[in-house]
Amino acid sequence: MLYYKPSILNVCRCCFTAKFLSRRGLSTTQNLSRTNLPHQKILTHFPHAQKNAAFLSQFIYCPTACGGTRGLFGGSRDNVHQQTLEDIAENIRERKFKRVVVMAGAGISTPSGIPDFRSPGSGLYDNLQQYNLPYAEAIFEINYFRHNPNPFFALAKELYPGNYQPNLTHYFIRLLHDKGQLLRMYTQNIDGLERMAGIPPNMLVEAHGTFATATCTVCRRDYKGEELRKDVMEGKIPKCSTCKGVIKPDIVFFGEELPQPFFSYLRDFPIADLLIVMGTSLEVEPFASLAGAVRGSVSRLLINRDLVGPFSWASRHTDVAELGDVVSGVKKLVELLGWKQELETLMKAGGDEASINMEE
Ligand SMILES: [Zn+2]
Repeated sequence: MLYYKPSILNVCRCCFTAKFLSRRGLSTTQNLSRTNLPHQKILTHFPHAQKNAAFLSQFIYCPTACGGTRGLFGGSRDNVHQQTLEDIAENIRERKFKRVVVMAGAGISTPSGIPDFRSPGSGLYDNLQQYNLPYAEAIFEINYFRHNPNPFFALAKELYPGNYQPNLTHYFIRLLHDKGQLLRMYTQNIDGLERMAGIPPNMLVEAHGTFATATCTVCRRDYKGEELRKDVMEGKIPKCSTCKGVIKPDIVFFGEELPQPFFSYLRDFPIADLLIVMGTSLEVEPFASLAGAVRGSVSRLLINRDLVGPFSWASRHTDVAELGDVVSGVKKLVELLGWKQELETLMKAGGDEASINMEE
């Protein structure tokens, strides 16, 4: 069982725990050892704790007092129904969930063959080595870009829309949209596969930007991504036709402001009735915190390789984690939904469309 470290209660006002500790006659250090492992029951009582890792590290763990199964706040969850993937599928199928928010990360793109440019051994990483980047992240730093845009455009050439095809996970979200049950998809990916799968741009929040549009770094003139394609593919730095400044695709660099649509989360998350989190480690802020932005009673489904974010440290009985390969997880959900046939039709049409586009 975890207790809140009383020495900082003054600032946190979590007096409930302070009273508890004094009632038990526990001193702050006696029999207590520190840990960063949070306790779900405590967290549900301190909602603000869910957002703040520093806050979490202030918990202390008591190895002697936790013997029983009862939590700090009494009672157990034995009589609470733990939601399952089947429950979620049923609620989607019966249209009880009509405002689904999806959050996705790189894990939904890797099945399309998108390389992780940070992984040594991936062709892209090796490609970038020739530019002598001081560190991998420099490629997304605006100051470095001004000094040397070549590595970024090498990455752009690799990721430019059209090089890769969306996979089953993208089409599943498209199908959710076609059925009128998608409220919004928040993606960390910059590969544009969501758009290629036919998810309309207004249903998308591309939190880390997009190659679909671009802006002159000098005069701020807007460009379409397609206008840059030829230069990018030929390995040239695209220049503004007005001022000859470098045109930068609208990918969000470190230190740059998030795109305006990102802030629609303020509207979307409070009215969402289901949150699906797919293929993300939920490590990059502020994206990661969004997972905690839905109402407490809202079902959250994680389809991911690992248990991450609030699913691991502030899980609710309405949370479902489908761990393992992301595509297999989505397939399982699709089968429970009975949407297999429709998804296959959609993917086939999408594939045909994509191959036509490529032939043009
Ligand atoms: Zn310009």
